[in-house]
Amino acid sequence: MGDIVKFHLNLFKSSLNNAFSGKEPWQIVTLTTSSVLFAVWLYDFLNQDETITERFKKAAFKLAKRIPTIQQKIDEELKTIAADFEAEMSKQAAHLSYITNLPPSGLSTDNILKKINENLALGAYRWKEGCASGAVYCYDPDLMSLVAQIYKLTSYTNPLHPDLFPGLCKMEAEVVRIACNLFHGDDNSCGTMTTGGTESIIMACKAHRDYAKNNRGVKRPQIVVPVTVHSGFDKAAQYLGLRVKYIRVDPQTYQVDIKAMKRAINRNTIMLVGSAPNFPYGTMDDIAAISELGIKYGIPVHVDSCLGGFLTCFMEEAGYPTPPCDFRLPGVTSISADPHKYGFTPKGTSVVLYRDKKYLHHQYTVTTDWVGGVYGSPTVNGSRAGGNIAVCWATLLNFGTEGYIKATRDIVHTARYIEKGLRRLKPIFVFGQPATSVVAIGSNEFDIYRLSDALQKLGWCLNILQFPSGIHICVTLMHTKPGVADKFLNDVKSSLTEIMKDPGVPVEGKMALYGTAQKLPDRSIVSEITKCYLDSMYFIPKNKQ
Ligand SMILES: *Cc1c(COP(=O)(O)O)cnc(C)c1O
Repeated sequence: MGDIVKFHLNLFKSSLNNAFSGKEPWQIVTLTTSSVLFAVWLYDFLNQDETITERFKKAAFKLAKRIPTIQQKIDEELKTIAADFEAEMSKQAAHLSYITNLPPSGLSTDNILKKINENLALGAYRWKEGCASGAVYCYDPDLMSLVAQIYKLTSYTNPLHPDLFPGLCKMEAEVVRIACNLFHGDDNSCGTMTTGGTESIIMACKAHRDYAKNNRGVKRPQIVVPVTVHSGFDKAAQYLGLRVKYIRVDPQTYQVDIKAMKRAINRNTIMLVGSAPNFPYGTMDDIAAISELGIKYGIPVHVDSCLGGFLTCFMEEAGYPTPPCDFRLPGVTSISADPHKYGFTPKGTSVVLYRDKKYLHHQYTVTTDWVGGVYGSPTVNGSRAGGNIAVCWATLLNFGTEGYIKATRDIVHTARYIEKGLRRLKPIFVFGQPATSVVAIGSNEFDIYRLSDALQKLGWCLNILQFPSGIHICVTLMHTKPGVADKFLNDVKSSLTEIMKDPGVPVEGKMALYGTAQKLPDRSIVSEITKCYLDSMYFIPKNKQ
Protein backbone atom coordinates (compact mmCIF):
# COMPACT_ATOMS: atom_id res chain seq x y z
CA MET A 1 0.00 0.00 0.00
CA GLY A 2 2.68 2.43 1.18
CA ASP A 3 4.88 1.47 -1.78
CA ILE A 4 2.13 2.24 -4.25
CA VAL A 5 1.64 5.69 -2.73
CA LYS A 6 5.39 6.30 -2.84
CA PHE A 7 5.51 5.15 -6.44
CA HIS A 8 2.78 7.56 -7.42
CA LEU A 9 4.42 10.39 -5.50
CA ASN A 10 7.67 9.75 -7.28
CA LEU A 11 5.95 9.61 -10.62
CA PHE A 12 4.18 12.89 -9.81
CA LYS A 13 7.50 14.46 -8.76
CA SER A 14 9.32 13.35 -11.88
CA SER A 15 6.57 14.45 -14.19
CA LEU A 16 6.52 17.83 -12.44
CA ASN A 17 10.28 18.09 -12.83
CA ASN A 18 9.92 17.18 -16.48
CA ALA A 19 7.25 19.80 -16.96
CA PHE A 20 9.38 22.47 -15.36
CA SER A 21 12.77 21.37 -16.73
CA GLY A 22 14.48 24.02 -18.76
CA LYS A 23 12.08 26.71 -17.51
CA GLU A 24 13.24 29.97 -15.94
CA PRO A 25 12.19 30.60 -12.31
CA TRP A 26 9.78 33.39 -13.41
CA GLN A 27 8.15 30.96 -15.82
CA ILE A 28 7.69 28.43 -13.07
CA VAL A 29 6.11 31.09 -10.84
CA THR A 30 3.63 32.27 -13.48
CA LEU A 31 2.84 28.73 -14.52
CA THR A 32 2.07 27.63 -10.98
CA THR A 33 0.14 30.81 -10.19
CA SER A 34 -1.99 30.53 -13.28
CA SER A 35 -2.65 26.84 -12.74
CA VAL A 36 -3.69 27.55 -9.14
CA LEU A 37 -5.92 30.35 -10.38
CA PHE A 38 -7.36 28.03 -13.02
CA ALA A 39 -8.03 25.37 -10.38
CA VAL A 40 -9.80 27.95 -8.18
CA TRP A 41 -11.83 29.14 -11.15
CA LEU A 42 -12.69 25.58 -12.13
CA TYR A 43 -13.74 24.78 -8.56
CA ASP A 44 -15.99 27.85 -8.49
CA PHE A 45 -17.31 27.07 -11.94
CA LEU A 46 -18.23 23.51 -11.03
CA ASN A 47 -19.63 24.41 -7.63
CA GLN A 48 -22.43 26.76 -8.52
CA ASP A 49 -26.16 26.68 -7.99
CA GLU A 50 -26.98 26.30 -11.67
CA THR A 51 -26.20 23.44 -13.96
CA ILE A 52 -23.46 23.91 -16.53
CA THR A 53 -25.96 23.99 -19.42
CA GLU A 54 -27.95 26.70 -17.68
CA ARG A 55 -24.83 28.75 -17.20
CA PHE A 56 -23.75 28.28 -20.80
CA LYS A 57 -27.22 29.35 -21.90
CA LYS A 58 -27.02 32.44 -19.71
CA ALA A 59 -23.56 33.26 -20.99
CA ALA A 60 -24.78 32.86 -24.59
CA PHE A 61 -27.66 35.25 -24.01
CA LYS A 62 -25.33 37.70 -22.33
CA LEU A 63 -23.00 37.52 -25.32
CA ALA A 64 -25.89 37.94 -27.77
CA LYS A 65 -26.92 41.08 -25.90
CA ARG A 66 -23.42 42.48 -26.46
CA ILE A 67 -24.42 42.80 -30.11
CA PRO A 68 -25.67 46.39 -30.25
CA THR A 69 -28.62 45.73 -32.59
CA ILE A 70 -29.94 42.95 -30.33
CA GLN A 71 -29.59 45.01 -27.17
CA GLN A 72 -31.22 47.95 -28.94
CA LYS A 73 -34.15 45.80 -30.01
CA ILE A 74 -34.59 44.47 -26.44
CA ASP A 75 -34.43 47.99 -25.00
CA GLU A 76 -37.09 49.16 -27.44
CA GLU A 77 -39.35 46.23 -26.56
CA LEU A 78 -38.88 46.86 -22.84
CA LYS A 79 -39.74 50.53 -23.31
CA THR A 80 -42.99 49.61 -25.07
CA ILE A 81 -43.85 47.11 -22.36
CA ALA A 82 -43.09 49.64 -19.60
CA ALA A 83 -45.28 52.20 -21.35
CA ASP A 84 -48.13 49.66 -21.51
CA PHE A 85 -47.84 48.94 -17.81
CA GLU A 86 -47.79 52.65 -17.00
CA ALA A 87 -50.81 53.34 -19.19
CA GLU A 88 -52.69 50.50 -17.52
CA MET A 89 -51.81 51.78 -14.07
CA SER A 90 -52.71 55.42 -14.72
CA LYS A 91 -55.95 54.55 -16.55
CA GLN A 92 -57.47 53.45 -13.26
CA ALA A 93 -56.83 56.82 -11.64
CA ALA A 94 -57.35 58.98 -14.74
CA HIS A 95 -60.14 60.99 -13.09
CA LEU A 96 -58.05 61.82 -10.00
CA SER A 97 -55.24 64.24 -9.36
CA TYR A 98 -51.98 63.07 -7.76
CA ILE A 99 -50.41 64.64 -4.70
CA THR A 100 -46.69 65.02 -5.33
CA ASN A 101 -45.71 67.62 -2.77
CA LEU A 102 -46.66 68.16 0.83
CA PRO A 103 -49.68 70.44 1.05
CA PRO A 104 -48.49 73.89 2.20
CA SER A 105 -50.55 73.54 5.35
CA GLY A 106 -52.12 70.46 6.86
CA LEU A 107 -55.43 69.31 5.41
CA SER A 108 -58.61 68.99 7.46
CA THR A 109 -59.74 65.56 8.58
CA ASP A 110 -62.79 65.79 6.28
CA ASN A 111 -60.62 66.56 3.32
CA ILE A 112 -58.23 63.70 4.07
CA LEU A 113 -61.14 61.28 4.48
CA LYS A 114 -62.59 62.43 1.16
CA LYS A 115 -59.27 61.78 -0.53
CA ILE A 116 -58.75 58.37 1.00
CA ASN A 117 -62.20 57.30 -0.12
CA GLU A 118 -61.40 58.41 -3.67
CA ASN A 119 -58.26 56.27 -3.61
CA LEU A 120 -59.97 53.28 -2.07
CA ALA A 121 -62.68 53.41 -4.75
CA LEU A 122 -60.07 52.66 -7.44
CA GLY A 123 -59.97 49.14 -8.90
CA ALA A 124 -62.60 47.19 -10.76
CA TYR A 125 -62.68 43.88 -8.84
CA ARG A 126 -65.51 43.38 -6.33
CA TRP A 127 -63.27 41.66 -3.78
CA LYS A 128 -65.73 42.32 -0.94
CA GLU A 129 -68.08 39.92 -2.71
CA GLY A 130 -65.52 37.11 -2.76
CA CYS A 131 -64.31 37.30 -6.35
CA ALA A 132 -60.63 37.20 -5.36
CA SER A 133 -58.58 34.08 -4.76
CA GLY A 134 -56.84 34.46 -1.36
CA ALA A 135 -55.73 38.08 -0.89
CA VAL A 136 -58.55 39.08 1.46
CA TYR A 137 -59.19 36.32 3.97
CA CYS A 138 -61.97 37.98 5.93
CA TYR A 139 -64.01 41.17 5.68
CA ASP A 140 -66.12 41.61 8.76
CA PRO A 141 -67.20 45.14 9.79
CA ASP A 142 -67.55 44.15 13.48
CA LEU A 143 -64.03 42.75 13.57
CA MET A 144 -62.79 45.82 11.70
CA SER A 145 -64.23 48.14 14.31
CA LEU A 146 -62.55 46.12 17.07
CA VAL A 147 -59.27 46.31 15.13
CA ALA A 148 -59.70 50.07 14.68
CA GLN A 149 -60.25 50.57 18.40
CA ILE A 150 -57.22 48.49 19.31
CA TYR A 151 -55.04 50.19 16.72
CA LYS A 152 -56.13 53.60 18.00
CA LEU A 153 -54.86 52.68 21.47
CA THR A 154 -51.56 51.23 20.26
CA SER A 155 -50.67 53.06 17.05
CA TYR A 156 -47.70 54.90 18.54
CA THR A 157 -46.21 52.05 20.56
CA ASN A 158 -42.92 50.35 19.66
CA PRO A 159 -41.78 47.06 21.19
CA LEU A 160 -38.18 47.98 20.31
CA HIS A 161 -38.42 49.69 23.71
CA PRO A 162 -39.61 47.04 26.17
CA ASP A 163 -39.01 49.41 29.07
CA LEU A 164 -41.46 51.93 27.60
CA PHE A 165 -44.01 49.38 26.35
CA PRO A 166 -43.80 46.26 28.52
CA GLY A 167 -47.44 45.52 27.78
CA LEU A 168 -46.76 45.20 24.06
CA CYS A 169 -43.95 42.73 24.75
CA LYS A 170 -46.29 40.75 26.98
CA MET A 171 -48.86 40.60 24.18
CA GLU A 172 -46.23 39.48 21.65
CA ALA A 173 -45.05 36.79 24.07
CA GLU A 174 -48.66 35.64 24.43
CA VAL A 175 -49.23 35.45 20.66
CA VAL A 176 -46.03 33.38 20.28
CA ARG A 177 -47.04 31.07 23.14
CA ILE A 178 -50.55 30.58 21.75
CA ALA A 179 -49.01 29.68 18.38
CA CYS A 180 -46.45 27.30 19.97
CA ASN A 181 -49.28 25.51 21.75
CA LEU A 182 -51.40 25.31 18.57
CA PHE A 183 -48.45 23.65 16.81
CA HIS A 184 -47.84 21.28 19.72
CA GLY A 185 -44.53 22.74 20.84
CA ASP A 186 -43.27 21.75 24.28
CA ASP A 187 -41.94 24.07 26.99
CA ASN A 188 -38.73 24.60 25.01
CA SER A 189 -40.55 25.84 21.92
CA CYS A 190 -40.19 29.55 21.28
CA GLY A 191 -40.32 32.13 18.51
CA THR A 192 -41.05 35.70 17.49
CA MET A 193 -43.67 37.63 15.62
CA THR A 194 -42.71 39.14 12.27
CA THR A 195 -44.40 41.38 9.73
CA GLY A 196 -45.40 38.56 7.38
CA GLY A 197 -44.73 35.09 6.05
CA THR A 198 -41.79 36.19 3.94
CA GLU A 199 -40.04 37.74 6.93
CA SER A 200 -40.69 34.58 8.96
CA ILE A 201 -39.10 32.52 6.18
CA ILE A 202 -36.10 34.83 5.91
CA MET A 203 -35.66 34.59 9.68
CA ALA A 204 -35.83 30.78 9.73
CA CYS A 205 -33.26 30.62 6.91
CA LYS A 206 -30.97 33.02 8.75
CA ALA A 207 -31.28 31.09 12.01
CA HIS A 208 -30.47 27.77 10.37
CA ARG A 209 -27.67 29.25 8.25
CA ASP A 210 -25.91 30.68 11.29
CA TYR A 211 -26.64 27.59 13.36
CA ALA A 212 -24.97 25.41 10.72
CA LYS A 213 -22.07 27.84 10.40
CA ASN A 214 -21.38 27.83 14.14
CA ASN A 215 -22.01 24.17 14.80
CA ARG A 216 -20.81 22.46 11.63
CA GLY A 217 -18.64 25.10 10.01
CA VAL A 218 -20.79 25.16 6.87
CA LYS A 219 -19.41 27.84 4.57
CA ARG A 220 -21.49 27.33 1.41
CA PRO A 221 -24.95 26.94 2.90
CA GLN A 222 -27.61 25.25 0.81
CA ILE A 223 -31.33 24.78 1.47
CA VAL A 224 -33.20 21.83 -0.01
CA VAL A 225 -36.77 22.72 -0.98
CA PRO A 226 -39.59 21.37 -3.16
CA VAL A 227 -40.13 23.21 -6.48
CA THR A 228 -43.56 24.08 -5.09
CA VAL A 229 -42.14 25.95 -2.10
CA HIS A 230 -43.08 29.63 -1.73
CA SER A 231 -40.88 32.13 -3.59
CA GLY A 232 -40.05 33.63 -0.19
CA PHE A 233 -37.32 30.99 0.11
CA ASP A 234 -35.67 32.19 -3.09
CA LYS A 235 -35.93 35.73 -1.76
CA ALA A 236 -34.34 34.61 1.52
CA ALA A 237 -31.57 32.92 -0.46
CA GLN A 238 -30.96 36.12 -2.44
CA TYR A 239 -30.75 38.17 0.75
CA LEU A 240 -28.72 35.69 2.78
CA GLY A 241 -26.38 34.26 0.15
CA LEU A 242 -27.80 30.73 0.23
CA ARG A 243 -27.95 28.21 -2.57
CA VAL A 244 -31.32 26.66 -3.28
CA LYS A 245 -31.58 23.06 -4.37
CA TYR A 246 -35.03 22.55 -5.86
CA ILE A 247 -36.54 19.08 -5.64
CA ARG A 248 -39.11 17.82 -8.12
CA VAL A 249 -42.60 16.85 -7.05
CA ASP A 250 -44.42 13.65 -7.91
CA PRO A 251 -46.43 14.31 -11.09
CA GLN A 252 -49.50 12.59 -9.61
CA THR A 253 -49.56 13.76 -6.00
CA TYR A 254 -47.71 17.08 -6.36
CA GLN A 255 -45.87 16.24 -3.13
CA VAL A 256 -42.10 16.55 -2.97
CA ASP A 257 -40.19 13.45 -4.13
CA ILE A 258 -38.66 12.24 -0.86
CA LYS A 259 -36.05 10.03 -2.56
CA ALA A 260 -34.83 12.96 -4.63
CA MET A 261 -34.75 15.13 -1.51
CA LYS A 262 -32.64 12.51 0.23
CA ARG A 263 -30.19 12.40 -2.68
CA ALA A 264 -29.82 16.18 -2.63
CA ILE A 265 -28.60 16.28 0.97
CA ASN A 266 -24.89 17.00 1.32
CA ARG A 267 -22.51 18.45 3.89
CA ASN A 268 -23.57 21.98 2.95
CA THR A 269 -27.27 21.37 3.54
CA ILE A 270 -28.48 23.58 6.38
CA MET A 271 -32.23 22.96 6.18
CA LEU A 272 -34.89 20.81 4.53
CA VAL A 273 -38.25 22.41 3.81
CA GLY A 274 -41.75 21.04 3.39
CA SER A 275 -44.95 23.02 2.82
CA ALA A 276 -48.16 22.43 4.73
CA PRO A 277 -49.61 23.11 2.25
CA ASN A 278 -47.82 24.78 -0.67
CA PHE A 279 -49.21 27.88 -2.35
CA PRO A 280 -49.43 26.80 -6.03
CA TYR A 281 -51.35 23.49 -5.72
CA GLY A 282 -52.45 23.48 -2.10
CA THR A 283 -51.03 19.97 -1.69
CA MET A 284 -49.15 19.04 1.47
CA ASP A 285 -45.70 17.47 1.35
CA ASP A 286 -45.09 14.30 3.36
CA ILE A 287 -43.84 16.24 6.37
CA ALA A 288 -43.41 13.05 8.45
CA ALA A 289 -41.00 11.65 5.83
CA ILE A 290 -39.06 14.93 5.65
CA SER A 291 -38.89 14.95 9.45
CA GLU A 292 -37.37 11.45 9.32
CA LEU A 293 -34.77 12.57 6.78
CA GLY A 294 -33.93 15.46 9.09
CA ILE A 295 -33.40 13.13 12.04
CA LYS A 296 -31.41 10.61 10.01
CA TYR A 297 -28.97 13.18 8.59
CA GLY A 298 -29.02 15.61 11.52
CA ILE A 299 -30.41 18.46 9.45
CA PRO A 300 -33.05 20.94 10.68
CA VAL A 301 -36.48 20.78 9.03
CA HIS A 302 -38.64 23.84 8.44
CA VAL A 303 -42.36 23.51 7.83
CA ASP A 304 -43.87 26.38 5.87
CA SER A 305 -47.36 26.67 7.30
CA CYS A 306 -47.73 30.31 6.31
CA LEU A 307 -50.79 29.49 4.24
CA GLY A 308 -52.27 26.52 6.06
CA GLY A 309 -51.14 27.10 9.62
CA PHE A 310 -54.28 28.45 11.14
CA LEU A 311 -56.36 25.83 9.31
CA THR A 312 -54.37 22.62 9.91
CA CYS A 313 -54.37 23.36 13.66
CA PHE A 314 -58.15 23.19 13.73
CA MET A 315 -58.96 20.68 11.00
CA GLU A 316 -59.16 17.67 13.25
CA GLU A 317 -61.75 19.35 15.46
CA ALA A 318 -63.52 20.74 12.41
CA GLY A 319 -64.10 17.19 11.17
CA TYR A 320 -61.36 17.09 8.54
CA PRO A 321 -58.47 15.09 10.04
CA THR A 322 -55.13 15.88 8.46
CA PRO A 323 -51.65 14.29 8.89
CA PRO A 324 -49.50 15.86 11.63
CA CYS A 325 -47.23 18.58 10.26
CA ASP A 326 -45.95 20.33 13.36
CA PHE A 327 -43.67 19.87 16.39
CA ARG A 328 -45.28 16.47 17.07
CA LEU A 329 -42.88 15.25 14.37
CA PRO A 330 -39.49 15.04 16.09
CA GLY A 331 -37.43 16.28 13.12
CA VAL A 332 -39.37 19.54 12.71
CA THR A 333 -37.21 22.34 14.09
CA SER A 334 -39.09 25.42 12.88
CA ILE A 335 -42.48 26.49 11.57
CA SER A 336 -43.68 29.67 9.87
CA ALA A 337 -47.39 30.50 10.12
CA ASP A 338 -49.37 33.60 9.23
CA PRO A 339 -52.10 35.00 11.46
CA HIS A 340 -52.67 37.48 8.63
CA LYS A 341 -53.95 34.69 6.39
CA TYR A 342 -56.29 32.20 8.11
CA GLY A 343 -55.86 33.84 11.52
CA PHE A 344 -57.90 36.66 9.89
CA THR A 345 -55.78 39.41 11.44
CA PRO A 346 -55.02 42.58 9.48
CA LYS A 347 -51.96 42.32 7.22
CA GLY A 348 -48.61 42.69 8.91
CA THR A 349 -48.38 39.71 11.24
CA SER A 350 -46.77 36.29 11.09
CA VAL A 351 -44.97 34.04 13.55
CA VAL A 352 -41.78 32.02 13.24
CA LEU A 353 -41.45 29.25 15.81
CA TYR A 354 -38.55 26.99 16.87
CA ARG A 355 -38.34 23.72 18.72
CA ASP A 356 -35.54 25.13 20.85
CA LYS A 357 -33.85 28.42 21.77
CA LYS A 358 -30.57 27.21 20.23
CA TYR A 359 -32.08 27.95 16.82
CA LEU A 360 -33.87 31.14 17.82
CA HIS A 361 -30.62 32.57 19.18
CA HIS A 362 -29.18 32.38 15.67
CA GLN A 363 -32.14 34.41 14.39
CA TYR A 364 -31.31 37.33 16.67
CA THR A 365 -28.79 39.95 15.65
CA VAL A 366 -26.66 41.74 18.21
CA THR A 367 -24.30 44.65 17.56
CA THR A 368 -22.18 44.87 20.66
CA ASP A 369 -19.86 47.76 19.79
CA TRP A 370 -22.13 50.38 18.25
CA VAL A 371 -21.50 53.87 19.59
CA GLY A 372 -25.24 54.15 20.06
CA GLY A 373 -25.11 51.37 22.62
CA VAL A 374 -25.39 47.57 22.56
CA TYR A 375 -28.16 46.88 20.04
CA GLY A 376 -30.00 43.59 19.96
CA SER A 377 -33.14 42.89 17.92
CA PRO A 378 -35.09 39.73 17.21
CA THR A 379 -36.16 40.25 13.58
CA VAL A 380 -35.40 42.32 10.47
CA ASN A 381 -36.96 45.52 11.75
CA GLY A 382 -35.54 47.87 14.33
CA SER A 383 -38.60 49.86 15.35
CA ARG A 384 -41.70 47.73 15.10
CA ALA A 385 -45.39 48.58 14.90
CA GLY A 386 -46.83 47.77 18.32
CA GLY A 387 -50.26 48.26 16.78
CA ASN A 388 -49.75 45.22 14.53
CA ILE A 389 -48.99 43.03 17.52
CA ALA A 390 -51.99 44.32 19.43
CA VAL A 391 -54.48 43.85 16.59
CA CYS A 392 -53.19 40.31 16.00
CA TRP A 393 -53.52 39.54 19.69
CA ALA A 394 -57.04 41.05 19.76
CA THR A 395 -58.17 39.11 16.67
CA LEU A 396 -56.95 35.79 18.12
CA LEU A 397 -58.90 36.52 21.30
CA ASN A 398 -61.94 37.63 19.31
CA PHE A 399 -62.17 34.32 17.43
CA GLY A 400 -61.13 31.94 20.17
CA THR A 401 -60.82 28.21 19.54
CA GLU A 402 -64.48 27.82 18.64
CA GLY A 403 -64.39 30.71 16.19
CA TYR A 404 -61.38 29.23 14.38
CA ILE A 405 -62.85 25.73 14.31
CA LYS A 406 -66.02 27.09 12.74
CA ALA A 407 -64.13 29.19 10.21
CA THR A 408 -61.94 26.18 9.33
CA ARG A 409 -64.99 23.95 8.93
CA ASP A 410 -66.71 26.47 6.64
CA ILE A 411 -63.60 27.09 4.54
CA VAL A 412 -62.53 23.45 4.12
CA HIS A 413 -66.16 22.46 3.44
CA THR A 414 -66.39 25.12 0.71
CA ALA A 415 -63.01 24.16 -0.78
CA ARG A 416 -64.04 20.46 -0.92
CA TYR A 417 -67.38 21.47 -2.45
CA ILE A 418 -65.60 23.48 -5.14
CA GLU A 419 -63.07 20.66 -5.70
CA LYS A 420 -65.88 18.14 -6.15
CA GLY A 421 -67.69 20.42 -8.58
CA LEU A 422 -64.53 21.01 -10.61
CA ARG A 423 -63.68 17.30 -10.76
CA ARG A 424 -67.02 16.74 -12.50
CA LEU A 425 -66.02 19.00 -15.38
CA LYS A 426 -64.45 16.90 -18.11
CA PRO A 427 -61.96 19.13 -19.89
CA ILE A 428 -60.15 20.16 -16.70
CA PHE A 429 -58.32 18.26 -13.94
CA VAL A 430 -57.44 19.04 -10.31
CA PHE A 431 -53.72 18.96 -9.41
CA GLY A 432 -53.08 16.35 -6.70
CA GLN A 433 -55.15 16.23 -3.52
CA PRO A 434 -55.90 19.71 -2.14
CA ALA A 435 -55.00 19.54 1.58
CA THR A 436 -56.73 22.62 2.95
CA SER A 437 -58.15 25.53 1.00
CA VAL A 438 -56.39 25.82 -2.36
CA VAL A 439 -57.77 24.02 -5.42
CA ALA A 440 -55.60 24.14 -8.54
CA ILE A 441 -56.76 23.13 -12.00
CA GLY A 442 -55.21 22.51 -15.39
CA SER A 443 -56.29 21.06 -18.72
CA ASN A 444 -54.90 18.67 -21.32
CA GLU A 445 -57.46 19.73 -23.89
CA PHE A 446 -57.18 23.50 -24.12
CA ASP A 447 -54.96 26.34 -22.89
CA ILE A 448 -56.04 26.75 -19.25
CA TYR A 449 -55.18 30.44 -19.42
CA ARG A 450 -58.26 30.83 -21.63
CA LEU A 451 -60.37 29.77 -18.66
CA SER A 452 -58.59 32.28 -16.48
CA ASP A 453 -59.27 34.95 -19.10
CA ALA A 454 -62.96 34.01 -19.38
CA LEU A 455 -63.38 34.01 -15.59
CA GLN A 456 -61.65 37.37 -15.35
CA LYS A 457 -64.23 38.80 -17.73
CA LEU A 458 -66.87 37.49 -15.31
CA GLY A 459 -65.19 39.35 -12.45
CA TRP A 460 -63.04 36.55 -10.94
CA CYS A 461 -59.45 37.23 -10.01
CA LEU A 462 -57.63 33.87 -9.74
CA ASN A 463 -53.95 32.97 -9.34
CA ILE A 464 -51.88 31.98 -12.33
CA LEU A 465 -49.45 29.03 -12.15
CA GLN A 466 -46.63 28.14 -14.56
CA PHE A 467 -44.47 25.07 -15.33
CA PRO A 468 -47.00 23.60 -16.01
CA SER A 469 -49.76 26.11 -16.76
CA GLY A 470 -52.57 26.14 -14.26
CA ILE A 471 -54.85 28.37 -12.21
CA HIS A 472 -55.96 28.11 -8.63
CA ILE A 473 -58.58 29.43 -6.27
CA CYS A 474 -57.61 29.95 -2.65
CA VAL A 475 -60.83 29.67 -0.67
CA THR A 476 -61.26 32.16 2.18
CA LEU A 477 -64.10 33.16 4.50
CA MET A 478 -65.24 35.39 1.61
CA HIS A 479 -66.18 32.29 -0.42
CA THR A 480 -68.13 30.63 2.39
CA LYS A 481 -70.95 33.13 2.07
CA PRO A 482 -74.13 31.72 0.51
CA GLY A 483 -74.10 31.48 -3.27
CA VAL A 484 -70.45 32.39 -3.87
CA ALA A 485 -69.14 28.84 -4.46
CA ASP A 486 -72.09 27.98 -6.71
CA LYS A 487 -71.63 31.15 -8.72
CA PHE A 488 -67.98 30.24 -9.17
CA LEU A 489 -68.77 26.70 -10.33
CA ASN A 490 -71.47 27.94 -12.68
CA ASP A 491 -69.16 30.55 -14.16
CA VAL A 492 -66.47 27.89 -14.71
CA LYS A 493 -69.03 25.60 -16.34
CA SER A 494 -70.41 28.23 -18.71
CA SER A 495 -66.87 29.39 -19.61
CA LEU A 496 -65.89 25.79 -20.40
CA THR A 497 -68.92 25.33 -22.64
CA GLU A 498 -67.81 28.37 -24.61
CA ILE A 499 -64.14 27.30 -24.73
CA MET A 500 -64.87 23.69 -25.78
CA LYS A 501 -66.70 24.91 -28.88
CA ASP A 502 -63.17 25.37 -30.21
CA PRO A 503 -60.58 24.02 -27.78
CA GLY A 504 -57.61 24.66 -30.07
CA VAL A 505 -57.92 28.46 -30.08
CA PRO A 506 -54.80 30.12 -28.64
CA VAL A 507 -55.16 32.44 -25.67
CA GLU A 508 -55.22 36.15 -26.45
CA GLY A 509 -54.59 39.45 -24.72
CA LYS A 510 -52.85 39.87 -21.39
CA MET A 511 -53.03 36.16 -20.54
CA ALA A 512 -51.06 35.37 -23.70
CA LEU A 513 -48.16 37.21 -22.07
CA TYR A 514 -47.96 34.56 -19.33
CA GLY A 515 -47.79 31.84 -21.93
CA THR A 516 -45.06 33.68 -23.80
CA ALA A 517 -43.15 34.44 -20.60
CA GLN A 518 -43.08 30.73 -19.78
CA LYS A 519 -41.56 29.92 -23.14
CA LEU A 520 -38.84 32.60 -23.08
CA PRO A 521 -35.55 30.76 -22.69
CA ASP A 522 -33.79 33.94 -21.54
CA ARG A 523 -35.23 34.31 -18.02
CA SER A 524 -33.34 37.57 -17.51
CA ILE A 525 -35.79 39.20 -19.94
CA VAL A 526 -38.73 37.95 -17.85
CA SER A 527 -36.97 39.48 -14.88
CA GLU A 528 -36.52 42.83 -16.69
CA ILE A 529 -40.20 42.85 -17.71
CA THR A 530 -41.22 42.17 -14.11
CA LYS A 531 -39.07 45.08 -12.95
CA CYS A 532 -40.93 47.31 -15.43
CA TYR A 533 -44.16 46.12 -13.83
CA LEU A 534 -42.85 46.89 -10.34
CA ASP A 535 -41.81 50.34 -11.57
CA SER A 536 -45.32 50.97 -12.84
CA MET A 537 -46.63 50.66 -9.28
CA TYR A 538 -44.73 53.86 -8.52
CA PHE A 539 -45.63 55.60 -11.75
CA ILE A 540 -47.13 59.07 -11.75
CA PRO A 541 -48.00 60.52 -15.17
CA LYS A 542 -45.81 63.51 -16.13
CA ASN A 543 -48.84 65.75 -16.73
CA LYS A 544 -50.08 65.07 -13.20
CA GLN A 545 -46.88 65.94 -11.34
C1 LIG B 1 -48.43 33.52 1.56
C2 LIG B 1 -47.42 32.47 1.71
C3 LIG B 1 -46.13 32.78 2.19
C4 LIG B 1 -45.61 34.18 2.36
O1 LIG B 1 -46.37 34.99 3.15
P1 LIG B 1 -46.44 36.57 2.99
O2 LIG B 1 -47.17 36.94 4.22
O3 LIG B 1 -47.18 36.88 1.74
O4 LIG B 1 -45.06 37.11 2.98
C5 LIG B 1 -45.27 31.73 2.40
N1 LIG B 1 -45.64 30.46 2.15
C6 LIG B 1 -46.85 30.14 1.68
C7 LIG B 1 -47.19 28.69 1.41
C8 LIG B 1 -47.77 31.13 1.42
O5 LIG B 1 -48.96 30.81 0.89
